[in-house]
Amino acid sequence: MTILYGGDYNPEQWPEDTWQDDWDKLKLAKVNSATINVFSWALLEPREGQFSFDKLDRIVKLLEDNNIKIVMATSTGALPNWMTRKYPEVTRVDTYGIRQIGGKRENACPNSPMFQHLSNELVEKIAKRYSNVKNITHWHISNEYGGYCYCDNCAVAFRKWLKKEYNNDLNEVNTAWGTNVWSHTYNSWNEINPPMKIGDVSEDGKPVLSGLDLAYRRFQSDSLLNNFKKERDIIRKYDDRPITTNLMGTQKDLDYFKWAKEMDIVSWDNYPAFDTPAGLTAMEHDLMRGLKQKPFMLMEQTPNQTNWQVINRLKAPNQMRMYSYQAMAHGADTIQFFQLKQARNGSEKFHSALISHSNSTDTRTFKELEQLGNELQSLPTDIVDSTNNSEVGIIFDWNNYWGLEDATGPIKQDYVQQVYDYYKEFYDRHIGVDMISKETDFKKYKLIIAPNMYINSESLTKRIEYYVSDGGVFVTNYMSGIVDKDDNVSLGGYPGLLRKVMGIKIDETDALPDDVQNQLIFKDKNIGSGSLLCDLIQPDTATSLAHYGKNVFYTDYSALTKNEFGKGTAYYAGSRLDKTAINYFLTDILQRTQIKSDSNNIGVEMIQRESSNNKFEFIINTDSKEKVINNPYPQTNDLLTHQQIGEEIHLSGYDVLILQIKK
Ligand SMILES: [Zn+2]
Repeated sequence: MTILYGGDYNPEQWPEDTWQDDWDKLKLAKVNSATINVFSWALLEPREGQFSFDKLDRIVKLLEDNNIKIVMATSTGALPNWMTRKYPEVTRVDTYGIRQIGGKRENACPNSPMFQHLSNELVEKIAKRYSNVKNITHWHISNEYGGYCYCDNCAVAFRKWLKKEYNNDLNEVNTAWGTNVWSHTYNSWNEINPPMKIGDVSEDGKPVLSGLDLAYRRFQSDSLLNNFKKERDIIRKYDDRPITTNLMGTQKDLDYFKWAKEMDIVSWDNYPAFDTPAGLTAMEHDLMRGLKQKPFMLMEQTPNQTNWQVINRLKAPNQMRMYSYQAMAHGADTIQFFQLKQARNGSEKFHSALISHSNSTDTRTFKELEQLGNELQSLPTDIVDSTNNSEVGIIFDWNNYWGLEDATGPIKQDYVQQVYDYYKEFYDRHIGVDMISKETDFKKYKLIIAPNMYINSESLTKRIEYYVSDGGVFVTNYMSGIVDKDDNVSLGGYPGLLRKVMGIKIDETDALPDDVQNQLIFKDKNIGSGSLLCDLIQPDTATSLAHYGKNVFYTDYSALTKNEFGKGTAYYAGSRLDKTAINYFLTDILQRTQIKSDSNNIGVEMIQRESSNNKFEFIINTDSKEKVINNPYPQTNDLLTHQQIGEEIHLSGYDVLILQIKK
């Protein structure tokens, strides 16, 4: 299979007599793919019901003539002006109840019958017209779905959604959300409003009825997913080729695990800021691979600087190449960019592209792209669709993300960072990780980490208990097992239903100011520290690994525990651990699981993908400084330089090697 190398191409922003010149240039860099028609609705349908495909036909022909593969988008991510003027209901209402007047993009109301009708009509015409184009490799629906709407159409659809979720029983809703608090009891379905800042949500985003808040997030994620599914089903009538939409890593709005079930292949847009740790980018790639437990498409990245971040630094020499191979190491089977030609006008004119404003191929960026394009062409074909195999699974869950961050108290939390606290430790030890959902089969992992598993259920508890009793090792921490799916606290002490497998009970949790850390004293008298939250743990069947220091009144309580349960072990961390504490904790866990760990060479990633005949060891210097490391596979070939590598590997700043190990 070919590695798609290319990206978003918007020739409609340029005179037609420049189009062929673009491809004369892009083909020098071995670009073989273009994503088109992402934002063309106003050109395709200039007036309601009047369609014009002449220009898109010419763009498709241009790409066919140049033997370029096509990722065909549906153009439904931005609304034409006639539509927002004639049908104001297609726009969104914000959390202050203000109806938007149109403009921008990714902002249609997902529950507007008129938007659904008009978008589906357009997609029907596009799918019918272009399904016979041989060069199309993928369909790309809308663009970067996200954001919520709070309009009356959404309120009506929400009540319908609730009736289905709660067995058409308003009492069930009242009970599930505990509406007797602050006189919120509903006596009619029509009394249920979306949670808005002019209503039941405080200015800092905290809902009064957290059950309502969680339900609305699920509903809006489902509503946008329904838009996706409708377009997908229309395309499917005409075409069997894979259908995707570009996701955005750890963005909060949508439950991507639910979305991925409806997508043929996951694709995503990776835009690390200049100060984003390489490990966090690695985690996002692993999450995107984890959505379907399959390789994914890197649909967008930028060849050089972005334009929309607070500070948009240039990428250093070889940094774009490094990011590209980092994506591939974690499961990307395509390397695509936003965009192929830099815009002259509009909000993206300072966003870099393959062809920059200089319109020259004699640029630092283009030369790097040329090198990358040549390298990708020379890689063995079985690198595509090869797998990443990991012994460690880290659970990521959008419902926990929403529930934890939206909770009023005990302290402001950052779910992604708190998951990354654990991911980073495995990343630094060169241990591969799968980011998994709570529905994943736990059995294939030696170790499961469930950071801040705030929401729990009886069925999930049973699966965890079975996994541990059968020999698995399970780790969780503060703010886990606290509530059910409607945000009702599980009574009988924290961590609720997990008390049995963890062998602990917690009555109180202290919240610490930013500049306060509590000492954690380990059994061997080593001292670490905990921040953010401190659970006052009372071990039941568990063994205490550390207790709090004398600077707090709860020094007698445990901070870290370990519980033998059947053939396995369950670990619990009652606080956010500093380097010393997490090192102590993980050393015990890694010994218990016998997972191989290598704490040398921090800043160099070593990740493996495997096909049926080969292993591919990606060795990536994610740093600008030179590194020298021992070669884990001496006398193997580097696929990028075609040279045999000896005992030592010298990596200049952002350098990459891919060693091929025959099986
Ligand atoms: Zn709406």
